Amino acid sequence: MTPKKYLIVANWKMNPLRGSEAKKIFKPVNTVASKLERVETVICPPLIYLESLGQDVTSRSCVLGAQDAFWEHAGAYTGQVSPDMIFNTKARYVIVGHSEKRAMGETDEMVNKKIKSILQFPLIPVICIGEKKRDDDSNYVKELKMQTKKSLEGLTAEEFSRIVVVYEPVWAISTNHGGICTPIECAEAVQVIRQVLADMIGDVAKAQAVTIIFGGSVNEDSIAGFLTDGLVTGAIVGHASLDPKEFITLLKVAEKTGKKK
Ligand code: PEP
Repeated sequence: MTPKKYLIVANWKMNPLRGSEAKKIFKPVNTVASKLERVETVICPPLIYLESLGQDVTSRSCVLGAQDAFWEHAGAYTGQVSPDMIFNTKARYVIVGHSEKRAMGETDEMVNKKIKSILQFPLIPVICIGEKKRDDDSNYVKELKMQTKKSLEGLTAEEFSRIVVVYEPVWAISTNHGGICTPIECAEAVQVIRQVLADMIGDVAKAQAVTIIFGGSVNEDSIAGFLTDGLVTGAIVGHASLDPKEFITLLKVAEKTGKKK
């Protein structure tokens, strides 16, 4: 991602049901997103649609991503897909450690192995980190720090420069009743994450350069607030990315916000 651009990642999750519907969502989004100057858009459909949507990718401003990848390269791992296979489609990003995967048993250690495997390819891992709930005792800060440390353990400074971290508080995701995380609350958490990154990399400037985006019920009304006050340079969008009209509006708001900078 060019640092001057905002990064907007669409996480379609396990939607839509048919490839024809996926094309119907992707086409209008791609037409608009390809022309944006201040926004890079990444569409992450279910794996089964990557090949066919890849045929419609026309610009570096609107690219594809996968929603997960396994850490092994090939072999007897039924149901898994490797970063190598993903790279052979047109995908260039991979979401890792989403809370919905973590809820199915994915641990920080597994997330860490996946990240290291993905980084062996010219693929960008989009690593989701976030507390399950907020509390008055700031236990969430400990949870956030621990998850960041364990998920990113052992990465080199060069590898840190090729990752995207998502601050995604689980309680703010739309399907978890979408509690409202304000841009200020987001900014506080991002500062915690950056401090951990600085300790891990041993270099404040390099930690500052790591791309951090926000996720949690972002829509056309809230995106500008996060980009201006949330200390993030983008967002991951679930629910609102499945309606092309709504998602295009969100992208245009991000573009306009970028132009005001
Ligand atoms: C997500 O689950 O990654 C997400 C961002 O979802 P939503 O925008 O629907 O909260």
